[in-house]
Amino acid sequence: MARIRQLSSLVVNKIAAGEVIERPASVVKELLENAVDAGSRRIDVEIEQGGSDLIRVVDDGCGIVADDLPLAFASHATSKLACADDLFHIETMGFRGEALASIGGVAQVTLQSRPREEPSGAMLTCNGGELSEAHPWNGAPGTRIEVRHLFYNTPVRRKFLRTPSTEMGHISETFTRLALAHTRSIFEADVERGVRGEGLHLTLRHNNKTVYDIPKSMVLLDRIAAFFGPEVSNQLYAVQGFQNAATLTGYIADPACDRGTARMQYLFVNGRWVRDRTLAHAVQEAYRGLLMTGRYAVAFLFLDLPPEEVDVNVHPTKAEVRFRESQALHHLVFSTVRQRLHAENLTARLQVPSTVQPTESLGSPPPTNLFASPLPLPPPLAPFDPLPRASEPITAPPPPSMESTAVPSTPPAVSPTPAKIIQLYDAYLVVETDEGMLVIDQHALHERILFEQIKRRIQSGPLETQPLLIPEPVELTAEQAARTLEYRDALAELGLGVEDFGGGTILVTRYPALLGRRSPQTILRAVVDHLVSKERAPSREVLFNDLMSLMACHSAVRAGDRLTPEQMTALVEQRKLADDTHHCPHGRPTALLFSRHDLERQFRRV
Ligand code: ADP
Ligand code: MG
Repeated sequence: MARIRQLSSLVVNKIAAGEVIERPASVVKELLENAVDAGSRRIDVEIEQGGSDLIRVVDDGCGIVADDLPLAFASHATSKLACADDLFHIETMGFRGEALASIGGVAQVTLQSRPREEPSGAMLTCNGGELSEAHPWNGAPGTRIEVRHLFYNTPVRRKFLRTPSTEMGHISETFTRLALAHTRSIFEADVERGVRGEGLHLTLRHNNKTVYDIPKSMVLLDRIAAFFGPEVSNQLYAVQGFQNAATLTGYIADPACDRGTARMQYLFVNGRWVRDRTLAHAVQEAYRGLLMTGRYAVAFLFLDLPPEEVDVNVHPTKAEVRFRESQALHHLVFSTVRQRLHAENLTARLQVPSTVQPTESLGSPPPTNLFASPLPLPPPLAPFDPLPRASEPITAPPPPSMESTAVPSTPPAVSPTPAKIIQLYDAYLVVETDEGMLVIDQHALHERILFEQIKRRIQSGPLETQPLLIPEPVELTAEQAARTLEYRDALAELGLGVEDFGGGTILVTRYPALLGRRSPQTILRAVVDHLVSKERAPSREVLFNDLMSLMACHSAVRAGDRLTPEQMTALVEQRKLADDTHHCPHGRPTALLFSRHDLERQFRRV
């Protein structure tokens, strides 16, 4: 074993950079936070090639005096903390004095700054930790930082960068969080307490194109609309709650606007975006009974509390915090959100059993609209028929009596109804069979059948698709859109055609005919949620399996869908056609058998 040595500051900075600077978006986060701490009113961010070539942040904040410029790059050098006690009432975004040192260690940085009251400023460069001399600089008051060729001297890390559009997606997400956090508040409670000041004017450009331009006066709801589209912003309810010195304000979304991951639950503590399990749990609990399992609410919540009540020095990136009164805050979030949902009387609405026609989420038009055409195209039979029968070709024209794709309100009186199937709780089918009494989970079975149908069809060639005459636009975050386009080829093989419409909007152009029941929008969102939740690109086999089971899950009848006798019969008959009817693609059983023999034995007949 070698002797113990103190590491040089160059090595220390590279190690620290590993903790704080993971990718271009981390640089953007640190630079934006510095600009905010400098009291800026306007911040402009310019990116080239997803940040691997250039990240430039220009602010109009307080600036740095010439003599301090070299110190800005020194590790553990900060103007924001003076003594250890300050750590317990932090009111700035930064305080560790580590970010510029880390960035300077792994990139080529130019720092130019001029304090507001000075007639001129100064500049210097830091290349891989090597500082240049300071020179005079004649720019506008404020600070201008350029970070070029990130990770140029750590090739392994540079290799880990993903495509520019994916990295840009992460940067957009960082930008979004900051822009939401620094909005002039419209909540009376905030205004009275003066917790959140004026809004910030923020711009983001990528390869010379404006991605976002968020003016100072733009209120929170409009910012949410700018980043997530009207699909989200039109379904929000404002919330406000208090507990001792803590205030909770923000918006929560209607349960119909649910998502497959919790990533759209934005939580800000004293103006800082954070992840917090306890408070995320409180949100989820408040929605209990209003969302299906595996679905997550959308929320934008701002918690403001005295700085000494929260420890932000838990994690190098400060994305996690520790609360002194975590249980009390859990209660504040839970009860504020819950009461607001109750005020909308959402519980009652959800308890009404849905009929054959699936309830589509608010705001998304039923898929029938998409096929509206003056031409006599064969209308798809699938859209509202929960159970396309295996014996019928999917593209079969509808019976002449049926108008377009409308749902027959009364079941056709043709097929005889077998008396020996009943539906319980709109979720289970009880069937009499030779072996005994079979209890089927309608969702699990239908999901399995669809899964196998999709799989078989894909194996025998490309999946039959239905082109959408009017492509359906789906608004996503920039990160989600980028990820979706990365997987465009795989999605095409699965029958899902997607195209970039720009600005985070994806157009769905084709759609698997098999899945006609749900709107393309619903399926795409589920698929996107899944893709974004993966840190690494999954293998083709895993990806296909996951996506097929997702599509099957989202197209299958649900617990809560009341089925007509014909639909029950069709579902039970299809059971014979599937290879593994015992388990749904998630491994849950699809049916339980109570043998006739067992019944008779339990009733002491044998
Ligand atoms: P921290 O933000 O934790 O203090 P940084 O390494 O991010 O550490 O920055 C070091 C110091 O450089 C800050 O404390 C601040 O004094 C100064 N600084 C950095 N960026 C700016 C800026 N945009 N405007 C004014 N001062 C800045
Ligand atoms: Mg900082």
